[in-house]
Amino acid sequence: MLNRTLYFLRRFLLPQWLYFGIVILTGLVAAASSGLGIPLMIKFVFPLVFRSPGAPPELLTLCPALEHLAPATILLLACGSLPALFLIRGVAQWSNAYMVNYLGIRILEDLRMTIFRRVQELPLSFLEREKKGDILSRITSDTANVQNILGTIANDLIKQPITCASACAAFIYLLFSTGQGLLLLVNILLIALAAWPIIIFGKRISNRALQAQRSNGALNSVLQQNLETQREVRAYGMEERQIRQFRRVADGICTAIIKLVKYQRGIIPIIETVSSLALAFLLVRGRQAGMSLPDFMAIAGALFFLFDSMKRAGNAYNRFNEAQGSLHRLAEILFTPNPLRDPEQPQHLSQPVRGELELRGVSFRYSPEAAPALRDIDVHIPAGQIVGLVGPSGSGKSTFAGLIPRFYDPSEGSVRLDGTDIRRITQHELREHISLVGQQALLFNMSIRENILLGKADATDDELRRAAEAAAVTPFLSQLSGGLDSPVGEGGNQLSGGQRQRVAIARTFIRNAPILILDEATASLDAESEHDIQQALDRLALGRTTLIIAHRFSTIRAAQRILVFERGRIIADGSHDTLYASCPLYRELYDRQGIAES
Ligand code: ADP
Repeated sequence: MLNRTLYFLRRFLLPQWLYFGIVILTGLVAAASSGLGIPLMIKFVFPLVFRSPGAPPELLTLCPALEHLAPATILLLACGSLPALFLIRGVAQWSNAYMVNYLGIRILEDLRMTIFRRVQELPLSFLEREKKGDILSRITSDTANVQNILGTIANDLIKQPITCASACAAFIYLLFSTGQGLLLLVNILLIALAAWPIIIFGKRISNRALQAQRSNGALNSVLQQNLETQREVRAYGMEERQIRQFRRVADGICTAIIKLVKYQRGIIPIIETVSSLALAFLLVRGRQAGMSLPDFMAIAGALFFLFDSMKRAGNAYNRFNEAQGSLHRLAEILFTPNPLRDPEQPQHLSQPVRGELELRGVSFRYSPEAAPALRDIDVHIPAGQIVGLVGPSGSGKSTFAGLIPRFYDPSEGSVRLDGTDIRRITQHELREHISLVGQQALLFNMSIRENILLGKADATDDELRRAAEAAAVTPFLSQLSGGLDSPVGEGGNQLSGGQRQRVAIARTFIRNAPILILDEATASLDAESEHDIQQALDRLALGRTTLIIAHRFSTIRAAQRILVFERGRIIADGSHDTLYASCPLYRELYDRQGIAES
């Protein structure tokens, strides 16, 4: 926990040292003017006003120069010093609060950017394992929580202990100057008594806070999933079930927060009771020792600031513990080891990239404890070959295709592109040469033109037109008032599934990468769209190394070669005719689908 906290302080607080320095300085002035300034003022300055006949006030004995001033001037100075002190205190407190917030906002931005950047490079296996809503909640709610706490560290965890220390200094000085050593002893015991719950509750608070933040993440994922699947929820009458699930998670948050508040608020009454004991004892001793009112008031003032700052510091410490829950969840993202690092000295592929692929001795598991999703794969795919990947569901086809753009690295063996191990080149360079078309074309909330140009930002108008034509985008443009500049809506929801897929294919055409991976690109389309898009895909595949993950045999009619997968192994490799004659699994899959489609 300490290491993690130190990392966060070093990484996010240290770069802001200048603002942090101003926070400490203003905090110091505000704290000293309260903890030290007010008790000493009561002791030294007030007696200048209420002086008893014949007894020189202490300030006059400490500072004889004041003797020569006219009594009216002394009175004016004495009365004026109070607003002056409060002015200094007020300005310092305001600047302190302003700078703390400024610092907090800068830190929040830095923290969010760091986490977001990290999410872009995290292994897909991590992102697939975690729920999207939970990751969202870490980036928004947990970072805001940490911002809060870093603000508190910068403010109260520094200002309050300083106030406490200065009040302590004033307190000790006042006790010794009035000969009240016993009061010091008693108060040391009382301070220890007040500090005890702060320490005890700390751990419980951080546990409950972690629980609350986890439930918060779970709530977000339930909500996100619910919003994404509204059609299914209504079609299957799942509303009540979803409400129950939401309530269960929301109840979890309530329970954790209620427990959190119980401990957080617990220290305040304890410290207040202890401080009233200290005051009562001071009254008794003051009376016994015949203490003067200014002495009593000064010591009581110091006591007040001592316990009050302790209470506030304890509160800040609680909040610090509360943020530990969020720090823990952010650390899971920040410290997740990334096995997919780029090499220190990357090689470059020789140009032009041909797209020859070779997998040697490849095995792969999604996690060390999982069964291998791929085993002993040895396959060579010459440049420009169109290959169909066939096999029962869960046999490893998508995993195989995912190894080519390095979404995962093989647990054993290597993948080579044009003879170079793909771990020796940067992921950016590798992925520049690969295009993917999946089942659901994902478009960004921009115009059709901008979506196509994502494939090649500097494409000419002529290239754009040719890509739109080849992908059969042109025919439906006339139905849209804005043509190529029509917006597609969030995720492309203003277009039909077939239109979205065509735009995605146009993007792939313009990208012109030598390797193409098609994963069920026509699965969710109606027969007419499927026909047009299949033709567009056939044109796209021409001359490229193409892997077609086929759940339906109609999608691999252009394949020159077919790899048959079963339980993570390639059990047969050849043309349709050879496989149909020699591979019983292939024949069975083919015939079964023939029956299903007829
Ligand atoms: P196919 O594409 O042939 O249907 P996959 O390659 O998707 O098969 O899956 C192969 C095996 O790996 C299956 O047992 C599947 O459960 C497992 N698997 C797939 N994706 C993941 C994942 N993200 N995490 C863990 N296991 C996975």
